[in-house]
Amino acid sequence: MLKKLFKSFRSPLRRAHQSHSSPEVLTNHQHCIHRGDISRYATSVVERLQQAGYQAYLVGGCVRDLLLDIDPKDFDVATSATPEQVRAEFRNARVIGRRFKLVHVHFGREIIEVATFRANHPEGDDEEDSSHLASRNESGRILRDNVYGSLEDDAQRRDFTINALYYDPSTERILDYANGVHDIRNHLVRLIGDPTQRYQEDPVRMLRAVRFAAKLDFDIEKHSAAPIYKLAPMLREIPSARLFEEVLKLFLAGYAEFTYELLVDYGLFGELFPASAAALKANPDYTDELIRNALINTDLRIQQNKPVTPAFLFAALLWPALPARVLKLQERGMPPIPAMQEAAHELISEQCQRIAIPKRFTMPIREIWDMQERLPRRSGKRADLLLENPRFRAGYDFLLLRESAGEQTGGLGDWWTVYQDASDSERRGMIRDLSQDATGEVPRKRRRSGGKRKRAPGADAPSHD
Ligand code: ATP
Ligand code: MG
Repeated sequence: MLKKLFKSFRSPLRRAHQSHSSPEVLTNHQHCIHRGDISRYATSVVERLQQAGYQAYLVGGCVRDLLLDIDPKDFDVATSATPEQVRAEFRNARVIGRRFKLVHVHFGREIIEVATFRANHPEGDDEEDSSHLASRNESGRILRDNVYGSLEDDAQRRDFTINALYYDPSTERILDYANGVHDIRNHLVRLIGDPTQRYQEDPVRMLRAVRFAAKLDFDIEKHSAAPIYKLAPMLREIPSARLFEEVLKLFLAGYAEFTYELLVDYGLFGELFPASAAALKANPDYTDELIRNALINTDLRIQQNKPVTPAFLFAALLWPALPARVLKLQERGMPPIPAMQEAAHELISEQCQRIAIPKRFTMPIREIWDMQERLPRRSGKRADLLLENPRFRAGYDFLLLRESAGEQTGGLGDWWTVYQDASDSERRGMIRDLSQDATGEVPRKRRRSGGKRKRAPGADAPSHD
């Protein structure tokens, strides 16, 4: 396939893997990207900027993906215009970001992201007048990245060679400053420049390396792969809100299972999900199976264009870490249900210190877990009430997921599968058949009024989640 895509392209093998001040140029006869493959809004943004006298190109993932015959997720534009100059050209544009300022140009639901060419700022460059534009902390991490530069500078500071390709829709030429085309042909994710330094500048690049390797089915080139294991703990310095966004990109792109494997192999998973990694160590088969099955499901749903909820995903990723915590609390004398509630709360709070899961997702996580306590209790009208609960579906799917990983539930999943499709009279029969022992029900009269009663899912979710 690649042969076809790169028509008569000459291999630039002789070159070292550095970024160059003069690019390899591919004319429209040497690659297979056509103007028609590109969002007309992206083309119009580039052309408008060019007409206004600025340099402008399509860049990054869209060029890479089009060369690989993949539908680009979005179209990014790089330009010599400053964010303010870009905004002045478009009525529908907004400047966003602080660490990395850029402009979003809106066309209905489509957003074209326009970034000004950036320059690398050398370490120790802390002159007072530029520190508001660019700054690093003591470990070399870039805190602000708003020093503008030339097209050549911009190519150098991009993360991977395969992401440093610039396409000009007017001439239909591709500019390749870092031998990205060579790496695309060889299926390699390779950092531009010194890998250790580039990861230190922005540890999220380690996650991006894994994400692109999984998405494109590429290898991480050996020098780019080597420092990851050692530098993985640097992810702890990344703001938890940014990591939340990155984790969604990792797991909601349709390649979650493979991504998870790579994250584990490179020691990155434990930095993102420390409690789950501990469960993976303590109970490897069950934990791996549960997480993997959840991710396989997610990938399948994305393939089928079905909605996926991050809450279900996080509920699954964290679930294997719950039992040990529940047990610990029970050993301290806490009854099972409060112990479960407390363990869930602790686990989510701890996780949120690494990855800021917003409350709109932590609440449903608690509700999905809460459902696991409720699904076995089916007597009287309970089963029908549960069926009407808006979280029933997620709770039921989660039960099946637990069973798929080998949890013993006494056939509860099958019972619910049959119950949902049964007629009224069949349902009454199924409820009658439940023996009290099998349901584990606590007879009403034994309940104390001051006891810990279960309430509707969500009603008992603590407000500090
Ligand atoms: P996709 O959109 O398919 O996930 P992408 O390569 O377009 O992949 P984006 O996150 O949209 O990724 O970023 C656009 C481009 O910006 C990248 O291709 C890369 O050149 C550059 N870039 C993004 N994040 C970084 C980073 N942390 N360090 C250096 N360059 C980056
Ligand atoms: Mg992109």
